[in-house]
Amino acid sequence: MSIQTAEDLFIEELRDIYSAEKQALRAYPRLAKRVESDELKQAMQTHLEQTKEQVNRLDRVFEILEKRSSGKTCEGMRGLLEEAGQHVEEIEQGPVMDAALIGALQRVEHYEIAAYGTVATLAEAMGQDEIKELLGETLEEEKETDELLTGVAQNVNTQALEEGDASEDEDSEEESMKEAPSKPKKPRKQVGNTRRGRRAA
Ligand code: FE
Ligand code: FE
Repeated sequence: MSIQTAEDLFIEELRDIYSAEKQALRAYPRLAKRVESDELKQAMQTHLEQTKEQVNRLDRVFEILEKRSSGKTCEGMRGLLEEAGQHVEEIEQGPVMDAALIGALQRVEHYEIAAYGTVATLAEAMGQDEIKELLGETLEEEKETDELLTGVAQNVNTQALEEGDASEDEDSEEESMKEAPSKPKKPRKQVGNTRRGRRAA
C-alpha cells in the first residue's frame, strides 16, 4: 500500500503493530520455556495474557475503521524477537540468561510503547475517540510491563552477579565456603569478562 494521507499512515502503522503483537504472541511461550526465575516466568505469563487482549483491541480498531488487519510484517519486531531467541539459545540457562532476556523483552516493550504512542496520538488528532481509548489502554499496559521487568531485573541481576562470584570463589581457597563447595577442585580456565572489576564495564 502506498502511503499518501495521514489516514493511510494510520492504517499502515496499525497493521505494523498488529503484526508485531502476533509475532510476540507466538514467541513468548517459546522464550518463557527456558527461563529459570519464577518471577520472570510469572511476569511473562501475565504479559502473554495481556497481549492476547491487546490483539483483541486491535481487532476492534480495524472493525471500527472497516479495514483489514493483515498485510504487513513488522520487521522491527522480527529483529527484536530474533535477538531474544539468540540469547535463549546461546547463553546457558540461569540468571545470566534471564538477565539477557529481560533486556531483550524490555526492548520489545519500548518498541511497542513508541508504536502505540504514535497511533494513539494520530487517533486523537483524527478525532477517533474510541480508537484513541483502546490504543491508550494498551499503551499503559506496555509501560507497566516495562516497569515490571525493571523490577524483576533487580533480583535477577543480583542472582546473576552472585553466580559470577560463586564461580570465582572456586579459584580462591580462602573464601570457598560461600556456596556448596563440595566439588573437588580442578584447574579452571579463566573466562573472559567474569573477573571482578570488569563487570561494570
Ligand atoms: Fe503488546
Ligand atoms: Fe508488550
